[in-house]
Amino acid sequence: VGGGIVGSALACWLARGGLSVGIVEKARAANPFLSLGKDCRVSTIVRAVELALRDLEAWPKAHAPVRAIEVWEDQALGGIRFEPEEIGEPSFGAVVENRKLIAKLRARSEALGVVWMEGAPSALRRRAHGVELALGGGEVVAAELVVGADGARSQLRELAGIGCWVRSYGQRGIVATVRLARSHQGVAVQRFLPTGPLAVLPLDQPELASIVWSADEPEAVRLLRMSEQAFLEALRLALGPVFGGVEEVGARASFPLERRLAKHWARERVALVGDAAHVIHPLAGLGANLGLRDALVLADELVQARAYGEPIGALATLGRYRDRRIADVLGAMLAMEAFHQGFRLPGLSGLRAWGMRAFSQIGPIKRAAMRVAAGFAVDAPRAVP
Ligand SMILES: Cc1cc2nc3c(=O)[nH]c(=O)nc-3n(C[C@H](O)[C@H](O)[C@H](O)COP(=O)(O)OP(=O)(O)OC[C@H]3O[C@@H](n4cnc5c(N)ncnc54)[C@H](O)[C@@H]3O)c2cc1C
Repeated sequence: VGGGIVGSALACWLARGGLSVGIVEKARAANPFLSLGKDCRVSTIVRAVELALRDLEAWPKAHAPVRAIEVWEDQALGGIRFEPEEIGEPSFGAVVENRKLIAKLRARSEALGVVWMEGAPSALRRRAHGVELALGGGEVVAAELVVGADGARSQLRELAGIGCWVRSYGQRGIVATVRLARSHQGVAVQRFLPTGPLAVLPLDQPELASIVWSADEPEAVRLLRMSEQAFLEALRLALGPVFGGVEEVGARASFPLERRLAKHWARERVALVGDAAHVIHPLAGLGANLGLRDALVLADELVQARAYGEPIGALATLGRYRDRRIADVLGAMLAMEAFHQGFRLPGLSGLRAWGMRAFSQIGPIKRAAMRVAAGFAVDAPRAVP
């Protein structure tokens, strides 16, 4: 259930592995919010996951490779720069517009024989050898296993009686496309402001970038209410001379930021993946990557179970998926918490800048962190056979 990035990628990997797959998707058609002609929702897909999507033949042509990452809090104190050559990679991954990635995945899934159904589930019934999903229009879909990939407010999770821990960060993420005075040259920038982090992500046109400005609720409301010109000034003030300055800003959208963790990711004949299972702070651009790794691992387990004649909906099979994913997801959640809280402590910017410089000078630690950032130091297959 759910044909977003994670659900449609999972369907592709399962179909390629020989399983018969259908997707129930409630949205009639993708209706992206455009800002300077680009989807305001973009995802930084890390290199290891990008390679898995390339292997699946589901990687969109329009993407912007991330050739360096710069992180700083106060420009006067300096920051840290990461370059992928230090770990022998051409990039840390790439930024893609969500609408383009979803369109590519949908086309690939259809080519692999995945059946798309429009609707939303209204009831879930477990039967002796499978599950039945009633859709709003009166149709009933029967399957051996149902997977919830229907996002943070997953209806399937609710129908399956699975609870969820939720905590608001008290922040909103403001997103928009901006036009830069100079080419971004594939550099992604993250600035930690006292009110929250501000990321500038390169897009597939050299002068266009996407911003994700996470700000405490009152500050976010203030920024959203500003005129376009006043917001542009606020952005210039926050970013300084980065890329020669910001020349134009497109329409803004915003998302409430929260942390969510489903109490179970696997029940008899039901599994959860992506935001339906876990939602983290977007400051490191990891949410979709975690979800795509869920999809890779779940597909790997299900294709193997089918090959060995095991029931794909059995808790024993689904439990292996959960066990393989838990360390990655909880590790990312804890890391986001540490960044989020650590950069909020007032009066410590000098210490943090010193820490960043020290960190960047210890080669093995820096390289290990970069391998994690590129998605290589994680137990997830690069492809599903
Ligand atoms: C501001 C911001 C910036 C981000 N930046 C990044 C980034 O750079 N990199 C990154 O990796 N992650 C990023 N993320 C996180 C990322 O966007 C999400 O983790 C990812 O989109 C989750 O994908 P999903 O497919 O699990 O869920 P969703 O994208 O929510 O997709 C769910 C799908 O299910 C459908 N659906 C919902 N309910 C039903 C229903 N009842 N029945 C049928 N269908 C249903 C929806 O229409 C949708 O198609 C960001 C998040 C935010 C808020």
